Amino acid sequence: MRKNKVFKIPSRDSDDEVLIYVPSLFRLGVVSREESEDLPEYISTDGDLALDDASFPFPPIFNSLTLHLSSACNMSCTYCYNGQNAQSCHLSAKQVENSIDYLLDHPRDKKLKIHFMGGEPTVAWESLQHAVDYAREAVSNRDTEIIFAITSNGVWSDAQYEYIINNISDITISIDGPEDVHNKYRKLKSGRNTYEHVFRVAKALNDIDTLNLCLSVTMAREFVERMRSITEFLCREFPGVDIFIEALRTDNQHSNDAIVLSPDIKIFLDNYIDCLSYLRKAGFSNDISNSFVKPCGEQRTRYCGASGGNFIVSPDGIITACGAMTYNKSPVSNYFSFGEVHDSGILLDEDKYRRLVEWNVSNIEECNDCIARYICLGGCLARKAHLESFWSRPSCYCKEIRDAAPSYLWNQYMELAGG
Ligand code: SF4
Ligand code: SF4
Repeated sequence: MRKNKVFKIPSRDSDDEVLIYVPSLFRLGVVSREESEDLPEYISTDGDLALDDASFPFPPIFNSLTLHLSSACNMSCTYCYNGQNAQSCHLSAKQVENSIDYLLDHPRDKKLKIHFMGGEPTVAWESLQHAVDYAREAVSNRDTEIIFAITSNGVWSDAQYEYIINNISDITISIDGPEDVHNKYRKLKSGRNTYEHVFRVAKALNDIDTLNLCLSVTMAREFVERMRSITEFLCREFPGVDIFIEALRTDNQHSNDAIVLSPDIKIFLDNYIDCLSYLRKAGFSNDISNSFVKPCGEQRTRYCGASGGNFIVSPDGIITACGAMTYNKSPVSNYFSFGEVHDSGILLDEDKYRRLVEWNVSNIEECNDCIARYICLGGCLARKAHLESFWSRPSCYCKEIRDAAPSYLWNQYMELAGG
């Protein structure tokens, strides 16, 4: 028998409504206050919770490969994680081929994805085109479908635009909001603004039905109170497009004298939930996500692919499970790396890979019976990686997430109920 904790969350808008949430059964529902009083603190069910049934064999199998083709960029964003002054490095053609061969020889699915990132991946233009040609040729005699994705700043030439729309189906463009917000930090190396160009590219992409467009917003402290108007602007201009809002991280900015502050996470989450509620009532269908809280109802215990699901190759050929560690040369990046790609082939470290696979929310004592267990999952590992035994510690923003969970869950319920 398994005991499932029952949470009762009174409505802020109605004296008689109580949201019932049973995290381990992934159930949300509303009852009257009187009915809620009769519900027990725990419900017993038979059997174990069936979660994360994906297996993690060694050598590992993946459904995607992320190639950080180059650390170079055509922009110079003030808050960039990449490092304005860092010497740039690039993956060689052979490293790209060896990485693609590994994915194709160790597929988790019949449908695989190759995702181009950087730096700015379009700066490594020849390498990107080579990767597309090589992968297409390599799958031509296999029972495998391959799709391509890119995360980019959108500062492309006309020829690059044409190539991308004809070859890459999943496109994420970094745009921070309307003109004054975007242009504040997202500039070319010359200091010129980029909004006009990026907005025009994103609009054109949005008009192409066959593409999946996503917008990625980096939120600095000074703009967090404007989150509602920023997201409303993007929802109006890009109906139905997924929008990911990331709170700016300050641990990886390239310049101490140009530091841009990260938002207070409580304020960030309060504004995020306000946004969700406002946009839902206003009838927008865009999916607005962030990295602190995930939709409840997903039956898993791993916060992200850093627990063995990611196959990410950094521009210097390190294989890592964490996207934030591709430029991080501090000792903590070592926890996430599990191999190297060379011109001569791939080396994988079995012990390191097996350790990654062990990282999940079940290791974190504080998360047992937490209301946010399946929406927080213990939080981003990279954000807490500087702490000793970080894989068994709660999120650095545990209190903020726990406090935000009741309003977030109410919003989820209203969304599911179409209210
Ligand atoms: S640990 Fe955090 S930064 Fe790393 S891949 Fe997961 S979500 Fe991204
Ligand atoms: S809010 Fe804290 S205790 Fe709850 S799941 Fe997240 S890290 Fe764990």
